[in-house]
Amino acid sequence: MSFIIERLAIIGVGLIGGSLARALREAGAVGSVVGIGRSRTNLEDALSLGICDDITQDALEGVKGADMVFISVPVCSIPAVVAEIAPALAPGCIVTDGGSVKTAIVRECEAIMPTGCHFVGGHPIAGTEHSGAAASFATLYRGKRCILTPTKHTDPAALETVARLWRLAGADVCSMEPGHHDRIFAEISHLPHAVAYALVHAVGTADVEGENVLSYTAGGFRDFTRIASSDPVMWRDISLMNREALLASIDGFSASLAELRRRIDNGDQAGLTEFFTTAKKFRDGIV
Ligand code: NAP
Repeated sequence: MSFIIERLAIIGVGLIGGSLARALREAGAVGSVVGIGRSRTNLEDALSLGICDDITQDALEGVKGADMVFISVPVCSIPAVVAEIAPALAPGCIVTDGGSVKTAIVRECEAIMPTGCHFVGGHPIAGTEHSGAAASFATLYRGKRCILTPTKHTDPAALETVARLWRLAGADVCSMEPGHHDRIFAEISHLPHAVAYALVHAVGTADVEGENVLSYTAGGFRDFTRIASSDPVMWRDISLMNREALLASIDGFSASLAELRRRIDNGDQAGLTEFFTTAKKFRDGIV
């Protein structure tokens, strides 16, 4: 039997990499999967959960003979990982990633790729606030979007193979330019995470007559702040790598919050109703 990918190497077998491996195995799209990572414990979890056939902490050894390498480590580490594995890549190998920021990753990884190997940037729009191989599951990508970010340097056949795999994992695939991706995700993902972290930070350090106010939180606060439980290293990296676009989004949000503050301060009933009604309309319009 021939597979779309005979040997898939996953670097960073966590929620994103582990879920892709599980989905592709279920779809019968890959022959074998080698898991590569830093800690032995997570790799052993991946092996015992049947996500991988082989595991190794040696990235150069792990990518040998792979026809595809999927990189799902925190975004700031992705270019360094690609630079490390580049000398060991087999001719024709496709390297792709699931990082949440694209401009810097695509630029740096394209520049590193050895002749005859191909880089395709990607970002599955799916996730949870949990991390590690044990948090992964095969249906994570079902019905979710996966954005690929080709450039004029992208090999069309490699792009099509990556798109085909994501479709087999259940995702709806679309393409956009890396900078466009980063500006959109600064608004709809990176800003909400920054706001959730800042909100919990503010409330967690608030001093109301010595009370621990967090002990009074109910459903609304928990729903709104769920994403502040996400991995701090992942969000440190995303904030730094998408710095410019995120700062612009934070400035837009600060202006909106300042406007809301002004209307509250002025006792502006009509202005507050209008502000909340406009926001509710936007929210209710999300399908
Ligand atoms: P995760 O569950 O923490 O998995 C990351 C894995 O990478 C861990 O198993 C970690 O294991 C390993 N790792 C970390 N640094 C490494 C390095 N330098 N070399 C080799 N392995 C390394 O994180 P995730 O949620 O899957 O996120 C992975 C990527 O997907 C990130 O780039 C993120 O931006 C992107 N993404 C995440 C989501 C989401 O909602 N979580 C959604 C879309 C995209 P060890 O510590 O044992 O090495």
